[in-house]
Parts: sequence; structure tokens; C-alpha cells
Amino acid sequence: MSEIINKLEHKRDAVTLEDLEYILSTNKFDNQIFELADKIRKKYVGEEVHIRAIIEFSNYCKMDCLYCGLRSENKNLKRYRMTPQEILDRAKLIAEKEIKTVVLQSGEDPYYTTEIIEYLISEIKKLDMAVTLSIGERSFEEYKIWKEAGADRYLMRHETADEQLYDKLHPSDTFENRKRHLLTLKKLGYEIGAGCMVGLPGQGALELAKDLIFLRDIDSDMIGIGPFIPNPHTPLKNEKGGDLNTTLKVIALARILVPTANIPATTAMGSIHPFGRQMALKCGANVIMPNLTPNPYRPNYTLYPNKICLFEADTACINCVKGMIKGLNRVVGKSYGFRVKLASI
Ligand code: SAH
Repeated sequence: MSEIINKLEHKRDAVTLEDLEYILSTNKFDNQIFELADKIRKKYVGEEVHIRAIIEFSNYCKMDCLYCGLRSENKNLKRYRMTPQEILDRAKLIAEKEIKTVVLQSGEDPYYTTEIIEYLISEIKKLDMAVTLSIGERSFEEYKIWKEAGADRYLMRHETADEQLYDKLHPSDTFENRKRHLLTLKKLGYEIGAGCMVGLPGQGALELAKDLIFLRDIDSDMIGIGPFIPNPHTPLKNEKGGDLNTTLKVIALARILVPTANIPATTAMGSIHPFGRQMALKCGANVIMPNLTPNPYRPNYTLYPNKICLFEADTACINCVKGMIKGLNRVVGKSYGFRVKLASI
């Protein structure tokens, strides 16, 4: 076995930025990396695949991230907001389907005040489910209130760990600030979900290596990785976007470097290849997030074009992902699916 694969397997904390940059700039080790990631996934998080039902409850956003279809400058999008009652009705339906996590996702939409989000969390907790927030940057005080109300996890991708690129893509944010938010959430007791896009303009092997080192350093509990898919209604419309193989490789390396993390096979993976999510599940992923956003809203949460599941029947995505899990000879997770603790392995 080559020295570099041996290091990845047995000395993950000694893996350097240079090692990762090298691995990411050649295809020589790809198959070995994919196999190792699958082996490590099996050893640390087992055969269960956790299902997290996502409700995309608002596509209003005050930010202007250059890649995102929800950016406020995009006038080509029909905006919607679900009412708290609509969100709770949906959560109840998800609970009835015996799914143990609800992910509340939206653009950065201040319409939903501290109190509204707090109310939603406490009502959903009564249904005996884990609550994940994915609503962008809010104040540290709000994070604290929501944690006390029972929120369990917070998804906040770091998007790219290359500071210059981050700052270029986010007109009103900085990488330093993003990192501060993630560290604060972690300190408050949330499970945090950092992660990045793959194939952003100006992002090569070195920049992706930085993402992986960042994920290991921050010890991200969850890691969301997907290809960047250019959206025609954004300034990045003419860019190339991420490819399947590189994205799979970044997912596999994330599993190798953070063995106990929960890693989703993202919707974006399924959107660039019909079997993209299945491939991710075979290269380190152990989570899947079916879309439970109700109609008529669902087709309007278009971060990027060709997003899958927009026209599926109401709750069809649940059975679809269950079928996918069984088809891969894996096991449908029945627990809340918190991160496993190393000591218990
Ligand atoms: N507003 C929330 C989350 C909503 S967007 C937040 O700030 O965290 C969820 C994720 O979609 C983003 O973190 C980003 O990584 C991804 N995304 C946005 N536009 C995309 C695109 N064009 N291609 C691929 N992924 C995209």
C-alpha cells in the first residue's frame, strides 16, 4: 500500500495541507481513497443511514452570496414564506412517518423573529424529534435562546476555507466571521455542520485541501459537501461548476479525516448525476435528507438549476430514500442520529 494511503488510514491527525493538495491534484489514488472511506464509515458509524427531513420554509434572503439562487438581488424568483402553523403541520406529518430529525432551512430571513423560531423549536420538541436549524447567521444571543428551547444542531457551511475566495463570494461577510459563528455554536452545545461546495471559481486542489483541514480542525459534527452548480440568475452563471469525481473525493477525505462525523449524501450530488447520492453513500456518507417542503412552495426553493425532487408527490421522497438505503444493503436509521462518541466505539 502506498505511503500516503497508509498515513490517511493510520495517522489522520498528521495528514498535512500539502498531503491533501497532492492527493487532490492526481487521480492515482482515487479508488483506494474511496475504498478506505467506505471502510472507515463502516467501522465508525456503521451501516445505518440517518434520515433528516428538510422543510425549506422561506426563500427570502437578505444576503447576496454570488453563487446562490436565493440571493436578494435575484428578482427572478417567486418568494414565499410558510406560516408557523404550516411549518408545524409539516413537522407533525414528518413525526407520524417516524422520522427523528427535522431540519428547518431558509434564506437569511429576519421576518422570523427570535420568538417565532423559539416557538417552532419548542413545539417540534414536543413531537420527540431532534431539531436542526439551517437559517444562516443570527446573533449569539439568539443561538443561546434557541439552544435553551431545545434546538440540537445547526447547519452552517463554511462554504470555502480560502479566506480570499470566501470574502469575494460573500459581499457582506468574511471567513473570520463565519468561523466565529461556528465556534460559538459549538461552544453553546450545538452539533455543528460545516461544509463546502466543490468546484467554485478559483478553487483548486490547494483550496479544497484547506477545506478538509478546516473540517478536521473544527471537528465538525456534520459535514455537508456538494458540487457548486452555476445558477443562471446569479453573477456566477457562466462558471463551470463542480464535477462528480472531485466532489466524491472531498466527501471521502472528509470521512477519513473526521471518522465519526455525520455526512449527508447531498441533494446537489443527486442533481448532477442520477446516482450521485448513492455513490456518496458508498464513499463515506451516512445521512440523507429527503425534501419535505410542501407545495406550492417546493419548486421555488431553487438554490441552483435542475434540483431534484421538485415535482415529486408530497411525501414521496421518504419512501424513495428508504428504498435507496435498502438497495445499497444499508439500514434505515431509527434513532435521532446524533454523532457517535469515539469512546463508545
Ligand atoms: N441560508 C442558510 C442555508 C441555505 S442555503 C445559510 O446561510 O446557512 C444551503 C446551502 O446551499 C449553502 O450553504 C450552499 O453551500 C448551498 N448552495 C447555495 N447555492 C448553491 C449552488 N449554486 N450550487 C450548489 N450549492 C449551493
